[in-house]
Amino acid sequence: MTRLSADVAIIGGGLIGAWSAYFLAKRNQRVVLIEKGVVGAQSSGTNFGNLRLQGRFPGQYPLSLRSQALWEEIEELIGERCEFEQTGHLYLAFDGTEHEKIEAYAAVSESHGLAIEHLGPTELRRRWPWLSHRVVGATFSARDATANPRLVTPAVARAAKSLGATMVENCRVTEIRQAGSAFTLRTDTGIEVGAGYVINAAGAWAVAIAEQFGESAPLFPAGPPQFVTEPFPYLIEPSIQAVDGSVIFRQIPRGNVILAGYPRTAADPAANRAPVPPGKTLSAMRALARVAPTLASCHVIRVWSGIEGYLPDMIPVIGPSGTTPGLFHAFGFCGHGFQIGPGVGLCLSEMILDGGTATPLDPFSIGRFAQPVEVSAKFSAEFDTMEPPR
Ligand SMILES: Cc1cc2nc3c(=O)[nH]c(=O)nc-3n(C[C@H](O)[C@H](O)[C@H](O)COP(=O)(O)OP(=O)(O)OC[C@H]3O[C@@H](n4cnc5c(N)ncnc54)[C@H](O)[C@@H]3O)c2cc1C
Repeated sequence: MTRLSADVAIIGGGLIGAWSAYFLAKRNQRVVLIEKGVVGAQSSGTNFGNLRLQGRFPGQYPLSLRSQALWEEIEELIGERCEFEQTGHLYLAFDGTEHEKIEAYAAVSESHGLAIEHLGPTELRRRWPWLSHRVVGATFSARDATANPRLVTPAVARAAKSLGATMVENCRVTEIRQAGSAFTLRTDTGIEVGAGYVINAAGAWAVAIAEQFGESAPLFPAGPPQFVTEPFPYLIEPSIQAVDGSVIFRQIPRGNVILAGYPRTAADPAANRAPVPPGKTLSAMRALARVAPTLASCHVIRVWSGIEGYLPDMIPVIGPSGTTPGLFHAFGFCGHGFQIGPGVGLCLSEMILDGGTATPLDPFSIGRFAQPVEVSAKFSAEFDTMEPPR
């Protein structure tokens, strides 16, 4: 048996685990991160890559803006840019009700200091002539960005490693015990890790860890289907999202259009599967053509999804365990954890090393699930009718 000793053990090598390892190692902590597969291969590596600031849960803006500031200096932090580009994000409305919705999103963003452009049909046609003439209005945030999810988590993990963190891959944490103030983590490869603190960043698998300490959360595993088209000349700079939630897309400079089609589909974390039913490709392409008719005839060349944890109030769990001093949870990112990933890692490092963080995280306590939480309309619309994965 191999025994490792750490100040902080991290379960899960997704973006959250990797950034936590980075910020802790930067402050001279001995960190061991344990990943059941390979770093960045789950949700963190399969996502759409959007770093959207508009339209977020209002209580998340301080965290989200702090995180965006970290994205904006990613190259200085980890030595790699990972295709981070501040391309901006355009929210589109097709009727008066949708227009009210994007204006309400914009008002919240503006109250947190974000600059939003409010665009009518004439200006929209001038800047993006290929947009459907049925779009009645839009809001644009130039600070929103994208990055390549396939590159980011491994790059953050490499940076954490160069600061002294240990990364153990292909090794699953099966059991955790606490005696006094020390944790012992057992794994399926015989490695045992002793640590003073534990971060549960196990993504859609995190509830099994929390339950070992007598707490839980109603996590639902699912993912939005993703598609990439054949390349064609670069035309579309920002990320574009129909506010009815039917489609979001962006074009990368290599020419391919990446799109995500909604509603999401259920995933199977036990089997490690996130299937995309064939009909989803057709409905996503229809939704794309409605926004950008010029893309109607392009061909999809690859389809995938990922396994993400969703909670009924559509906000994550971030913060200390309610039962176990020294244990911290960060999971259930409900489809928006890529953007807040760096900020979450930084806040976790502050909670462990400074006893707290200045970033308000109260809404994200795991303790909220002691009573039934209010189910968000977004969750009901997609998840109430969701079929199990086939
Ligand atoms: C298809 C898709 C598109 C998305 N698009 C966006 C987007 O555009 N913008 C955005 O902000 N967010 C997006 N998201 C959400 C975002 O990807 C996630 O919120 C984020 O990556 C979550 O990171 P994580 O580290 O918590 O989880 P994960 O990346 O899932 O990492 C958790 C890790 O824990 C490991 N693990 C689990 N159990 C154990 C164990 N017992 N022992 C050891 N290791 C374990 C897993 O193998 C996994 O690698 C999208 C998600 C999906 C699925």
